[in-house]
Amino acid sequence: MEPGIGAGDEEHSALATLLGDVRACRRCSEFLPLGPRPLLQVSSDARVLVCSQAPGSKAHASGICFDDASGNRLREWMGITPGQFYDAQRVAILPMGLCYPGKAKAGDAPPRPECAPLWRQRLLQSMPGISLTLLVGGYAQAHVLGPGRVSDRVRNFASQPGYLSLPHPSWRSTGWMRRNPWFSQEVLPHLRNSVRQALQIN
Ligand code: SF4
Repeated sequence: MEPGIGAGDEEHSALATLLGDVRACRRCSEFLPLGPRPLLQVSSDARVLVCSQAPGSKAHASGICFDDASGNRLREWMGITPGQFYDAQRVAILPMGLCYPGKAKAGDAPPRPECAPLWRQRLLQSMPGISLTLLVGGYAQAHVLGPGRVSDRVRNFASQPGYLSLPHPSWRSTGWMRRNPWFSQEVLPHLRNSVRQALQIN
C-alpha cells in the first residue's frame, strides 16, 4: 500500500481504473449499430445489484441506465424513487451486455456475448457489500442460475436467498402481470420489503 492511502482509497482507485477500462471498451463495436456506449452504475458501497439485460435505445441516447419506461416500471416494482435508484452508493446496475445491442425481429437483440466474460466478474468483485441481487429478465437469470423458465423462477422467489428473479420490465410485462396476478400480490410486496431492508430504508 502506498503511504497515506487507506485500503478503502486503494479499492476506490482500482475501481476507477477498471471503470475507465470498461468505458473505453470497443471489443464488439462492429456488431453495435449505434456504436459502443457502455452503461453501468457501480460503486464499492452498493447494497442492491440490478443484473439486467442490456441498455435500450433511449438509455443509449441519454447515457443513463434504465432511463425509459422499463426503468419507471422497475423502480415502481422496487418501491424506490429515481433519486434512490440512481444513488450509486446504494444501487448498482450491471447489465449482461453493457452497450445497446440493436434490434431483433421482436424487441431488442440479445446482450452481446463478448461482454459478460470480459467484464462481469471483475466488476462484481469490486462490490463486496451487495446483499440483494435482482436478476431482471431471462438472460441474467440464465447466466446466474442456468436453464429455466422466467415465470417459474419469479414465482419461486423464496428459493434463492440473496437473489430475486424478475421478468424484464418492458411493456410486455403488463400483459404478463395480468395473467399472473400472484406477481403483484406476493412477489412485489416481498421485493419492496427486501429492497428496503437491503438499503436500510424505513
Ligand atoms: S458490449 Fe461490452 S464488450 Fe461490447 S463494446 Fe460494449 S462494453 Fe465492450
